[in-house]
Amino acid sequence: MKKTWKKWLALAAAGMMAVSMTGCADLTAKLTGLFGKNSESGSADSSDSEVVGLDDPIILENVTKAKNVILMIGDGMGPQQIAAGELFKGESLTMQQFPYMTTVETRSLSGTTDSAAAATALATGTRTTNGIVGKDSSYQDLTTIVDIAASLGKRTGIIATEELHGATPMGFSGHSNARGNTNELLESAATSSNVNLFASSALAPKNLRYFTDAGYEKIQLPEDISTATEEKIVGSYAIDPLMEPMSANGGLVAFDRLVTEALEYLSQDEDGFFLMAEGSHIDHGGHNNDINYMLKELISFDDGVQAVLEWAKDRDDTVVIVTADHETGGLLLDEGATHQDMLAAYEGVHIGYRWTSSGHTNTDVHCYINGANIDFASYSFADSGRIKNTDVFQIMKSLME
Ligand SMILES: [Zn+2]
Repeated sequence: MKKTWKKWLALAAAGMMAVSMTGCADLTAKLTGLFGKNSESGSADSSDSEVVGLDDPIILENVTKAKNVILMIGDGMGPQQIAAGELFKGESLTMQQFPYMTTVETRSLSGTTDSAAAATALATGTRTTNGIVGKDSSYQDLTTIVDIAASLGKRTGIIATEELHGATPMGFSGHSNARGNTNELLESAATSSNVNLFASSALAPKNLRYFTDAGYEKIQLPEDISTATEEKIVGSYAIDPLMEPMSANGGLVAFDRLVTEALEYLSQDEDGFFLMAEGSHIDHGGHNNDINYMLKELISFDDGVQAVLEWAKDRDDTVVIVTADHETGGLLLDEGATHQDMLAAYEGVHIGYRWTSSGHTNTDVHCYINGANIDFASYSFADSGRIKNTDVFQIMKSLME
């Protein structure tokens, strides 16, 4: 049984958890060993864990060629955001239980990246200038991982908890010299992206029309995505991190449920699929220096990761990659910050953390992989234990081709 963070909060409130976490300084070190989180973390001790019945992590069988590749992007999700999420939850996030992890250098040609250049790097393997979407710095259209998947006969999907004209979903499906060119981006995404499924936060009617005009069938309710038979579908919903189950009343849906619906739809294709699913608003929590907002979005995103693993766990043809485009807010946890601190911080008490920026930073982000044993050392900076954001594209490409 999957436990949601809401349940964790309830348990914590009921005084059933007396978890004392070690300082966050240990968290990064823990992650490099991964897999052994429950045995070697030295944080939440096992007796506490047993009280709430930790699930075993889902580890997918390693493949060298993946029929299905799922990329999940936490926008603005730096290592300290993840550490804060772990402290808040009182146990490892699902993404932290992945068997392979490396760190990722995120700079664009402009220096500190924005989400447009970052998405372009992840989607195309090319570093570009901030503001540019799906093009190189000379404004030439780039081939995306979506194009590559489609050329292999795979279905493709894009999910974002923001609107579709956001820089991340557009980086995988649109092309424009400037991220603010909403009309151009949506038009190119709708007419030439090779995306079978778009699902996002509520689209303005004029933005939705780009897709319906281009032959996309609008799927009114999220629970109808899984059984849709059309080759091109678009969904526009209220995606609420607080929602537990999917509701039938007008398209309110939790991120994890939306992801599961999309997987059912995409996997109808016998050639497999590529899915990019973004937790878009972790970034907004960082920009607003709002840890409650950030945690809500982060945990909701991680619930989505868990849903993907639940879907993939009995398969031997699927790779799941979780990463971020950049860090936002320069979040720093205090040395020795605790689970109780993060519960209090969530409720608005300023304890255990500080923000050092209202923008993006150059902090390396994490990349977690489940389902393939990647030789990170063969990539750009791997002798320093890091890869570049563009290498995430190379990894996905090599898994699919
Ligand atoms: Zn941002």
